[in-house]
Amino acid sequence: MPRQSSEEFKELVRSRTDIVSLIGEGVSLESRRGGHEFVGLCPFHDDRNPSLRVYPERQSFKCWSCNTGGDCFEFVMQSERVEFREAIELLATRANIEMPRTHQRGSQSQDGTSKSQLFEVVAWAEQQFHECLLNSPQAATARDYLNSRGFTADVIAAYRLGYHPNDWEWLIQRARGKFGLDVLTAAKLAAQRDGGRGYYDYFVDRVMFPIRDMQRRPVAFGGRILPGETRENAPKYFNSLESIIFTKSRLLYGFDHARDAIRKTDTVVVVEGYTDCITTHQHGQMNVVGTLGTALTETHVTNLKRFARKVVLVYDGDDAGQNAAERALTKFLAQEVDLRIMTLPAGMDPADFLATHGAAAFAKDIEQAPEAWQHKFRRAVARYGVDSIDAKDRVLDEMLEVLATVPHTGGADAGKWRNREDLILGSLVQRLGLKEHAVRQRLSDIRRRAADRQRNHDGPEAMQHDGPAYDSVSLPRKSLSRRDVYLEQELLQIVLAHPAVVGRLREDFACEELQDPQLRKLLACCYGLMDAGEELTFLRVMAELEDSALKGIAVSLDEEARRKGIGADLLEQTLACLRERHTTDAVEMSGQIREQVQQSGGGLNDETAAMLRRLSEYNKKRAVKNKLA
Ligand SMILES: [Zn+2]
Repeated sequence: MPRQSSEEFKELVRSRTDIVSLIGEGVSLESRRGGHEFVGLCPFHDDRNPSLRVYPERQSFKCWSCNTGGDCFEFVMQSERVEFREAIELLATRANIEMPRTHQRGSQSQDGTSKSQLFEVVAWAEQQFHECLLNSPQAATARDYLNSRGFTADVIAAYRLGYHPNDWEWLIQRARGKFGLDVLTAAKLAAQRDGGRGYYDYFVDRVMFPIRDMQRRPVAFGGRILPGETRENAPKYFNSLESIIFTKSRLLYGFDHARDAIRKTDTVVVVEGYTDCITTHQHGQMNVVGTLGTALTETHVTNLKRFARKVVLVYDGDDAGQNAAERALTKFLAQEVDLRIMTLPAGMDPADFLATHGAAAFAKDIEQAPEAWQHKFRRAVARYGVDSIDAKDRVLDEMLEVLATVPHTGGADAGKWRNREDLILGSLVQRLGLKEHAVRQRLSDIRRRAADRQRNHDGPEAMQHDGPAYDSVSLPRKSLSRRDVYLEQELLQIVLAHPAVVGRLREDFACEELQDPQLRKLLACCYGLMDAGEELTFLRVMAELEDSALKGIAVSLDEEARRKGIGADLLEQTLACLRERHTTDAVEMSGQIREQVQQSGGGLNDETAAMLRRLSEYNKKRAVKNKLA
């Protein structure tokens, strides 16, 4: 076809796209100059002062900080990371314009399926699941279950809940003549059987919760098992695997319903999972979103703060929940958000809380949730007390270590952050009854040590480091302590004795976090089987292992697990302990390095130098991971 017509098509798509509403789907925009200009936080760099401008008259956008700018096509290419051709497709679909023949896919799929094909198949599948739940006799149990959970017909319709029947090829059969198996597998709706013997549906006999992206398009599903499920080792919840349109660490469940309330209240409440999210919405608390089986990431927070200044994380009062809350603080203190922690009574999820105490109590607790650093302070005081000088020191150190992680650089926010730091320091001084001067001195000591570490890590020493390559944030160690070995083994014991936990574990624990290479391989094997859609049993794992030493380890772990009668409920605790040790190690090492340097009058001996390298390596990996998140 002549060039003219594709040019015409492009202009047609442009004319049906309003750039303000397009960008507004992902960024909270504020009207300026009587609507001639809109302002928001730029999604293309870590923006703290709104530097994104959208101009409705010119239908263009421009960021004054990072210089990204252009028209609607450019915006989609940048934000979806796609080529021009695909940006047109996405915008055409959004505007309900049919693609002309020359533009149609198929010819363009050198790299497999396109994003727009995946959007299409997921939307189609959502419709299949939804209709099945509403009408099919096969879905009677699922309907009963949802009713018993108080999910009304309105809720089922609004959240487009669905059901996939107990039939391993139900969706594949329905897709015949509409979507190819390549598209179904790329969208993670189906997977290939072992040895290439056909395909099977990824979700079977589950209530389906569609997961939507910022543009409200369904991109993935969460599947919940029905009560009375007899299949062994089936996890209660699981999500679609990641695909080119679904990245867990970027999306939050229920955002499409929560968006307006989040804007209006300038507050976003984060709970775990889709059922908690829907339940809180049902109780009228609409500014709530759910994480998708992972901890909140910096990408989440960066996205959320384009809509609200205040972020309230809701955690269970048990140890696992509280440890997660502390991790969140360390991760997000430096972000320009008002981070709050709401603690539920131990063992209660939001649904329990709402059923017991009602919506008003929930709303009040959210309103009064303490700032995250205050929450941490209370925990530290509970841990050490404040009765002795030593105890106060420990509390103070714990708080200052966190404060010191906030980079002390210049820039537009330096002043804002310094005010906040002053407030926190002032509070610590007052509550611990210490001298302000001493506290500040201590903070700058800690900060200087961190800066020294950074310098060393940039210096020639680190360059020469040719130790093992670690591809995770775990701290490379000299040797494993007995406790570490015990914890890592215990984790694998739980996995082998209760393979059902692997689904949950997979969500937020990387194999590389294990230090023992053999245990790492063992866990990787379990993850691999799970990803391949295999039913995970001890025998299946054994069959998969080729290395006989590894098989021996697996057997003795399994024996030990049975001897101890280890329970699946130990998982959270073991995980929390494993996590804590990385932080503890880093702190311990810096202490030792400092001591040696002081004693030797500034020089580094070999051992300390080696320690310093390991620490820098750790910090570097952590920095990279944070950037990636
Ligand atoms: Zn920018």
